[in-house]
Amino acid sequence: MTTNLQERVTLNNGAKMPWLGLGVFRVEEGAELVEAVKTAIKQGYRSIDTAAIYENEGGVGEGIIQGLQESGLKREELFVTSKVWNADLSYEGTIRAYEQSLEKLGLEYLDLYLIHWPVEGKYKEAWRALEYLYEEGRVKSIGVSNFQIHHLEDLLKDAKVKPVINQVEYHPRLTQTELQAFCEQHQIQLEAWSPLMNGQILEHDLIKELAGSYQKTPAQIVIRWDLQNGVVTIPKSTKAHRLAENADVFDFQLSAEDMEQIDQLNENHRIGPDPDNFDF
Ligand code: NDP
Repeated sequence: MTTNLQERVTLNNGAKMPWLGLGVFRVEEGAELVEAVKTAIKQGYRSIDTAAIYENEGGVGEGIIQGLQESGLKREELFVTSKVWNADLSYEGTIRAYEQSLEKLGLEYLDLYLIHWPVEGKYKEAWRALEYLYEEGRVKSIGVSNFQIHHLEDLLKDAKVKPVINQVEYHPRLTQTELQAFCEQHQIQLEAWSPLMNGQILEHDLIKELAGSYQKTPAQIVIRWDLQNGVVTIPKSTKAHRLAENADVFDFQLSAEDMEQIDQLNENHRIGPDPDNFDF
């Protein structure tokens, strides 16, 4: 049972990743971004999730440096994730992309580097590059994003290093139970992107009703549901009061019945692209 914002899950390589982190998709470079990352760190967040394609690694890095300075933390106390974009998925391209991300972030290593999307015919070559970076000690952990079961099966056939994480769209309308079971069986930790369904699920009657009965907010109910389902989660906000709200999920517990009710909202409904049918 997760009890605080700094609590970590041990990944299959022994590295420890915070259960709850900050996502920064669709946040442009600039003061709002730097402030959000810095504020999150000061509030106790220890995990930040970005990607090359978000084109905001510069500001994320600045926020990290300021956040570390102002809270007197060491780099090792943070867990920073980025992702290699589809255009760079060759072996050399992936290594180059990693170096570029580090440079933009102003960091010497990442805690986690992910293949962003399972582009057919390319992701295995990219995985070999991630394995190289991992074996060289350039990155602490490597993983994937948006991989379906068949992508994982294919990857695992030749992988020397197993992915530690599969970061996928996950919220009460898309509970991914088969994928989660497969990942558990292979010691791959599931991580939720768009855990709040980009805000949409917060308007659902059941979620609002549960918020009332637990005296928490709809976002807190959904984030708590992730954690109790054993899913790492990275809700995005740039607003200080929402960062605090989203992190205030450790003083209550959803009952088994209420967990089940939320699970029942599943409709296998995606708000983002389908990993089996995307064209970017
Ligand atoms: P989320 O489900 O986290 O929802 C974010 C939206 O909800 C924003 O509009 C935010 O607004 C709003 N919000 C946040 N907290 C609250 C709150 N307490 N009450 C009401 N509204 C709230 O969506 P994301 O798509 O951003 O997903 C999270 C992260 O996952 C991304 O930032 C990114 O890091 C990662 N991701 C990864 C993908 C992948 O392919 N691997 C794809 C998509 C996302 P505001 O900022 O104004 O507070």
